[in-house]
Amino acid sequence: MARGIARIREHKDGVMEYLMKEINFLSDTATLPSPEMRQAIFDADMGDDVAGEDPSANRLEDMAANILGKEAALVVSSGTMGNLVASLSHCERGDEMIVGQLSHINRGEGGGPSVIGGISIKALEENASGLLDPDQVKSSIHPDNFHYPKTAMIAIENTHNATGGIPLTREDTKVLADVAHQYDLPIHVDGARLFDAAVALETPAAELVKDVDTVTFCLSKSLGAPVGSVLCGSNEFVNKARRWRKVLGGGMRQVGVFAAAGIYALENNINRLAEDHSNARRLAKGLSGISGISIDLDKVRTNLVFFEITKGSPSEISRRLSEKGVRGGSPETRWRFVPHYGINSDDIDRALDVIESVLREY
Ligand SMILES: *Cc1c(COP(=O)(O)O)cnc(C)c1O
Repeated sequence: MARGIARIREHKDGVMEYLMKEINFLSDTATLPSPEMRQAIFDADMGDDVAGEDPSANRLEDMAANILGKEAALVVSSGTMGNLVASLSHCERGDEMIVGQLSHINRGEGGGPSVIGGISIKALEENASGLLDPDQVKSSIHPDNFHYPKTAMIAIENTHNATGGIPLTREDTKVLADVAHQYDLPIHVDGARLFDAAVALETPAAELVKDVDTVTFCLSKSLGAPVGSVLCGSNEFVNKARRWRKVLGGGMRQVGVFAAAGIYALENNINRLAEDHSNARRLAKGLSGISGISIDLDKVRTNLVFFEITKGSPSEISRRLSEKGVRGGSPETRWRFVPHYGINSDDIDRALDVIESVLREY
C-alpha cells in the first residue's frame, strides 16, 4: 500500500504478524499511487479521449505543453510508445535515425522503429555522461544520395539511464540540437526522467528542452503515477503523432482514469524528486563504506545508483538481499538501485544494514 506502511498478515488463529515493508530498488516504476493520487483518480472527470472529449486528458496535455514550453502534447500509454510515435512521426519507411548506443530507444524498446516503421537505427557511442559527440553525429548524417538510408532524426536521452542518470544541461543539448538543425533534422529528447534532470540542475524543464523539437517524459516513474507518458512538440507534429498513436492501437477512451494521476503528479510530485536524489546520495555514501562494494560517488547525480559488488555470486547475493526484504537489480552487469517515492531515508538506512550484513557473510 502507501509508503512506509508495513503489511499486516492475520493468521487463522488470529495472531497478527507484522511484515516488514519490502524495499524495492528495482526501478522508479515500482512507485504506487499515494492516497491523495488515488483520490484524484476517483474524482477524475472523464470522456472519450479518441474523440478529444476527455477533460482530464485535455487538461494534462495543456499542462504538459505549458510546462515544457511546447505548442501541444499527447498522452500516450508508455515512454516506449511516446518514443515510437515520435520516430514514426519524424521518419518515413527507409529513413534512418541517429541515437546513442546505450540509449533506451536502442536497447530497451524491442527495436520498435525498425519493426513497426521500417526505420533503421544508427547507434553511436556516447561519452561517460551519455552525450553524443557532435562531430561524430555530423559525419554520420548521410548526404542526399539514394544509396544511403535518409537520415531523418536524432534522439538523445535526459537523464541518461545507462551511464548513471547524469542530467544533461541545456548547453549539452543545444550543441546537438544545433547540429540537427544545421542539417534540417528534428531532434527528440527521450526525457523519461527529464524532471529529475530539471530538479538536479535547478533549471526549469522547459529550459532543458528549449532547443529541441520533441520530447517524451514518463508520468509512471518517479512522478508516481500508475500509467502514462506524454509526448510534446509543435501542433503540426502532435497532429501527426495522434494519427500514429491510433495506428498503434494507443487511442484509448476514458483516459481520465490515469490522466488525473498525471495532473496530480505534475502539480505535486516534481519538487519532491529532490528527496529521491538526496536518498540516492545517502545510499551511495553508505555503500561506499561497505567492504566489497565499489562505487563512483561523483556519478550519483539524480536517483540512479550504480555500483559493483566485488565478491560473492551476484545471483546468490541478490537472493539473500531479497529474503531480507531488499530488492535491486541487475546483478548480471552492474547493480542498479533506484530510490523513489516509495522509499524514505529510514528505508535507505535499513537497506544499508541489510546489504552490509549480507556482504559480511562472504
Ligand atoms: C523507462 C524508460 C523509457 C520507457 O518507458 P516505459 O514507460 O517503460 O515504456 C524510455 N526511456 C528511458 C530512458 C527510460 O528509462
